Amino acid sequence: MLNTLRKIVQEVNAAKDLKAALTIIVQRVKEAMGSQVCSVYLLDPETSRFVLMATEGLNKRSIGKVSMALNEGLVGLVGTREEPLNLEHASEHPRYRYFPETGEERYASFLGAPIIHHRRVMGVLVVQQKERRQFDEGEEAFLVTMSAQLAGVIAHAEATGSIRGLGKQGKGIQEARFVGVPGSPGAAIGSAVVVLPPADLDVVPDKPIDDVEAEVERFKLALEAVRADMRALSSKLANQLRPEERALFDVYLMMLDDASMGLEVKRVIRTTGQWAQGALRQVVLDHVKRFELMDDAYLRERASDVRDLGRRLLAYLQEERKQNLVYPDQTILVSEEVTPAMLGEVPEGKLVGLVSVQGSGNSHVAILARAMGIPTVMGVVDLPYSKVDGIQLIVDGYHGEVFTNPSELLRKQYAEVVEEERQLAQGLDALRELPCETLDGRRLPLWVNTGLLADVKRAQERGAEGVGLYRTEVPFMNGERFPSEKEQLATYREQLAAFHPQPVTMRTLDIGGDKALSYFPIKESNPFLGWRGIRITLDHPEIFLVQVRAMLKASEGLNNLRILLPMISGIQELEEALHLIHRAWGEVRDEGVDVPLPPVGVMIEIPAAVYQVRDLARQVDFLSVGSNDLTQYLLAVDRNNPRVADLYDFLHPAVLHALTLVIAGAHAEGKPVSICGEMAGDPAAAVLLLAMGFDSLSMNATNLPKVKWLLRQISLSKARELLEQLLRMDNPQVIHSTLHLALRNLGLGRVINPAATIQS
Ligand code: PEP
Ligand code: MG
Repeated sequence: MLNTLRKIVQEVNAAKDLKAALTIIVQRVKEAMGSQVCSVYLLDPETSRFVLMATEGLNKRSIGKVSMALNEGLVGLVGTREEPLNLEHASEHPRYRYFPETGEERYASFLGAPIIHHRRVMGVLVVQQKERRQFDEGEEAFLVTMSAQLAGVIAHAEATGSIRGLGKQGKGIQEARFVGVPGSPGAAIGSAVVVLPPADLDVVPDKPIDDVEAEVERFKLALEAVRADMRALSSKLANQLRPEERALFDVYLMMLDDASMGLEVKRVIRTTGQWAQGALRQVVLDHVKRFELMDDAYLRERASDVRDLGRRLLAYLQEERKQNLVYPDQTILVSEEVTPAMLGEVPEGKLVGLVSVQGSGNSHVAILARAMGIPTVMGVVDLPYSKVDGIQLIVDGYHGEVFTNPSELLRKQYAEVVEEERQLAQGLDALRELPCETLDGRRLPLWVNTGLLADVKRAQERGAEGVGLYRTEVPFMNGERFPSEKEQLATYREQLAAFHPQPVTMRTLDIGGDKALSYFPIKESNPFLGWRGIRITLDHPEIFLVQVRAMLKASEGLNNLRILLPMISGIQELEEALHLIHRAWGEVRDEGVDVPLPPVGVMIEIPAAVYQVRDLARQVDFLSVGSNDLTQYLLAVDRNNPRVADLYDFLHPAVLHALTLVIAGAHAEGKPVSICGEMAGDPAAAVLLLAMGFDSLSMNATNLPKVKWLLRQISLSKARELLEQLLRMDNPQVIHSTLHLALRNLGLGRVINPAATIQS
């Protein structure tokens, strides 16, 4: 059974569109269950009717014609009760409804299962039999399992189906909306530039080209390059391989020959006007399929050789495209998984938006995007991203939505939002030199989070009073090996000098989770609960010591360094880290560098640390709350997973209460406490953080002026009143709406969400 299920799902997954997917479902389920009929009805949200979309066994002409309301027929009953229905004689049921056009009277028994995706009823899967008999338990369980598995596939096919014909810009192509997760606030209108994963033939889209001969030329160059690689490989391995094994390289060369695959690809380019990558995909996958179907095991194996050659050719074509890629002025970068490195490749000033199919609002790339002020939508899992290259997109980073081929009207609405934001930002520039002080005189220093070099300039332009979190792993991510002590020293010195005499809080290396170093890969099934942050650096004191030594040396003569330790879960880790810091300090002083021991702090981002906050605070100089991880661990919601993004909420009562515990604990030990998670940069949340008693807030430079503006318009007493009211609430949604409403009523809504009025 399991095998049958898996096979059907695989086949459905590979279907080219929704119609094909549904056809496969009804054929295969009918076969697997040995029934005479299998049909799929999908709920049309516009008409609220279940429409027959595919059938095997009923009259095919009734497809798309037969439909029933929610309160009609057995299908309506299954859909509204959200439960399977198993009937020996369907026509005797009071809800039975007869549709003559389906030819259904011949079938007596009925088994229906609802198709539900993320709590939404999408349709009903039905099988029918001629004989009067009850389907047995096993059959019922099979259909329920099948429909649960298919729900996601159907939802995906349905969403992607709405933008078929995307490659062609122009009339008749409809606007479509794709829902993801807000990544970085703001709106952007621009052209999509898709970055495809390297050398993955399966996702290469079709793309028509104008200059066929130039494309053929491009392909020839790739062909030549791969041929040269093959020859070089063959001679390099000459001594290690037997002659018959080396002969394989000749086979490869033959396959690449002008008379073979090479010729075929050129023919496809010329006859279809398809770009080289698309033509290559078509030819290679055709060959692969043919080889895979062969009976002879040796020949079947050759499929992987063909695929490998295809991949090598594709890598050259992609490299060539990358080098010649012209980024339009309003570039919206789209990728399966946007990485920090991709951001760096877009020329300055051209990047206006980001769309990532994977990841969530608290993935590190989203955090970088916020720091850069680039509107971003994450986790747009239904977007057929490989097909949107070059088309117009709107990115709504407030709601987490992407629009393809937007209508004139929508473009106009969003253009107004973009303009409003520009004016708001301009207006806030005037706050630069003013302190962050409430109406009743409470000062709250606003710091920035940094990582990229560009952050320094941006932070200074926006009047930051220091750095509350310098993510040292960001410069580590750009290289191809761990940076040396000297290289680190130079990078850190630049940060410290740029902000001097303001404090710069440098966090020791926090890799793992979703922050990977290409040269230090970590493969784990549960990376956020695995080898992360301080756990890695304590296991590798050589990395930790070099980093701390570099920080200390960089601060010589400046003395504005603070060291922050990530992912501390208990006293032992802290003591070990403090011991290493003292050791590094002793070493650099022995080398003649005259620096005082800098203040050392601990991040409170693991629930265990909340409950040991006083023990931790006693041993350090300051605390800093990492609300991103604290929220993820308190609520057990992966910050990187779009499927549970709705559950990730830093205004959840559990998070708010934990924060109050941390502040009470830190202050009881006489230690200051800051917060450097993304929550601090959310203007509405910042009001609560002020009221709780945080000693400073550290945030992305983009949001700093908005937070400052809001805190200057409110009094501490009003903020405390609001906090008290919210801390009595148990429902996160009510907390959100009460907070936003209160701020709007105070006339402070403009920094919360300028796109709130656009309703799609
Ligand atoms: C946090 O967890 O809140 C934090 C600031 O660290 P990072 O986002 O880098 O994990
Ligand atoms: Mg963290």
